[in-house]
Amino acid sequence: MIHIAIDGPAGSGKSTVAKILSRKLNISYIDTGAMYRAVTLKLKDFDPKDFNRILSETSIDFIGQDIFLDGKNVSSEIRSEEISRLTSDFSKIDFIREKLVDLQRKIAEKKSCVMEGRDITTVVLPHAKYKFFLSAAPEVRAKRRYDQLLEKNMLADYNKILEDLKKRDENDMNRKNSPLKVGDDVTFIDSSDLNGEETADLIISKIGEGHV
Ligand code: C5P
Repeated sequence: MIHIAIDGPAGSGKSTVAKILSRKLNISYIDTGAMYRAVTLKLKDFDPKDFNRILSETSIDFIGQDIFLDGKNVSSEIRSEEISRLTSDFSKIDFIREKLVDLQRKIAEKKSCVMEGRDITTVVLPHAKYKFFLSAAPEVRAKRRYDQLLEKNMLADYNKILEDLKKRDENDMNRKNSPLKVGDDVTFIDSSDLNGEETADLIISKIGEGHV
């Protein structure tokens, strides 16, 4: 089995690159951010005292690259700006992280995959053979999100996206539980001047060289 773990901040190109790697290497793609987003979508209208119980009755599955929450395909719904903003607060809650980390490890036990998120190289799969941290300048990352939203015909305001993205970075890097950080034996890649294909090819060449 082969496991490729990728961490990085919002808009660093992780999902695009992970999708390309999954296609080129013929292994599954696991988007852990989508799992935190789906949990947020489920819990956002409930009272926090009920979160734990509701979560224990919630199912999250991937079918291909689509994510299903209690059997319903929520792949588009979880991409709204509201869910993006709320997710970094929900993802600070310990029992949510425990449940999702457990689910992510179970998925990886069963199959080869490229898994991306914020704590994959440090917490979820610290023993993965191939570990990468992908980043890019905040302005480049905000522009990527902006273009993605326009492509989906969703409303987008570049300055607001940049501001939200910086806030999310701040939240994700400074939270107590599993903060986003560059682990010791992780290969750092700055994708500011690379597109998805170029970044994926760079990763494949590093895997091939055995440098990682
Ligand atoms: O990757 P994406 O931007 O979709 O992730 C949404 C949010 O989910 C992140 O801002 C982060 O707060 C949270 N997340 C996390 N751990 C992961 C993946 C995502 O805390 N492994």
